[in-house]
Amino acid sequence: MIPHVLPTYNRAPLSFVSGAGSWLLAEDGGRYLDLGAGIAVNALGHAHPALVAAVTAQAARLWHVSNLYRIPEQERLADMLVAATFADTVFFTNSGTEAAELAIKMARKYWSEKGQPERTQIVTFEGAFHGRSTGAIAAAGSEKMVKGFGPLMPGFDHLRFGDHDALRSAVTDRTAAVMVEPIQGEGGIRVLPDACLKGLRDLCDATGALMILDEVQCGMGRAGRLFAHEWAGVTPDIMMVAKGIGGGFPLGAVLATEDAASGMVAGTHGSTYGGNPLGCAVGAAVLGIVGEDAFLAEVRRKGALFRQRLEGLVAAHPTIFESVRGVGLILGLKCRIAPTDVVKAGYAQHLLTVPAADSVLRLLPPLTITDDEIAEAVARLDRAAATLEHAAAVA
Ligand SMILES: *Cc1c(COP(=O)(O)O)cnc(C)c1O
Repeated sequence: MIPHVLPTYNRAPLSFVSGAGSWLLAEDGGRYLDLGAGIAVNALGHAHPALVAAVTAQAARLWHVSNLYRIPEQERLADMLVAATFADTVFFTNSGTEAAELAIKMARKYWSEKGQPERTQIVTFEGAFHGRSTGAIAAAGSEKMVKGFGPLMPGFDHLRFGDHDALRSAVTDRTAAVMVEPIQGEGGIRVLPDACLKGLRDLCDATGALMILDEVQCGMGRAGRLFAHEWAGVTPDIMMVAKGIGGGFPLGAVLATEDAASGMVAGTHGSTYGGNPLGCAVGAAVLGIVGEDAFLAEVRRKGALFRQRLEGLVAAHPTIFESVRGVGLILGLKCRIAPTDVVKAGYAQHLLTVPAADSVLRLLPPLTITDDEIAEAVARLDRAAATLEHAAAVA
């Protein structure tokens, strides 16, 4: 019999009843150190007092009115995002997938309005993840996501990650846009080198193609800058944001320059819930904290500390781990065994991690993780690796 909850997930037999900071309390009373943060969502950890206060105050005042009216909380968060980024304008969504949908529509509309309606092709990359809508799976194109869901939305060229020659021949003056994650999350914490992001910007400038960055996972402070592309010193035309921006409240956004957004006039796009007062009040509280220079400097410092400790872990367990990758607090351990086995061994040590493609174990802790918690996390990973080595030795 099919479970009452549609079984599209392979769930761990764990359920949590409360959380505080980097810790989750399980139903059976166990305390788990959370290095997954709800897949890079709980940027400020669990039950952060500022977010609890923001959501509680707004919940007592007003939840939803629809976009038929002006929404002051939405305007305030848009003001903050515009002030902090390259963007001139923002559309709020409830998820990353919805942000991908708008980014695709915006790029196509742009060229349609510029008198080149045939310019619809969007270049994307193998290993990418942009969400689960029909458009987003077509954009990413992996067999695992698209199989059985055809016919797929046409208009995407999938290139191999790091294939510069293919990129130069694929991006032409007929390309609508290039869509890329500065750091692939689901793909295995694959960091696009700064030089490549710069080169991509140059290629877009030379051909007119719009540069769409998907910062749903690597943005909102996770890479040690408010947005990961800042490391490369370039700016996109369109950017997708979600996950961390709501700190756990479902919230996403598309940020764009005035030019890139010029086709999106009244009536061209909408969302019933997107930008509701509740979500935007929480988003403003998150950005108010994460957007501070001192907070971001701490993410960089802790990321470097964590990375250094992980290098030691790799050296201590060469049959389990191969290398460390990532920037700030979006880190990956390339594994020599199935990363799902390491995730399971972590559960036994009351440690939560997330697997990714490319044999990578993802470490996406709350950005508020402390130095002591980083040490504790590495100690638990060390014990998990030791049990795996022991199991391999007796097998
Ligand atoms: C999670 C993710 C998405 C999709 O976000 P949802 O909120 O799950 O729809 C899109 N892009 C990237 C890079 C992501 O990590």
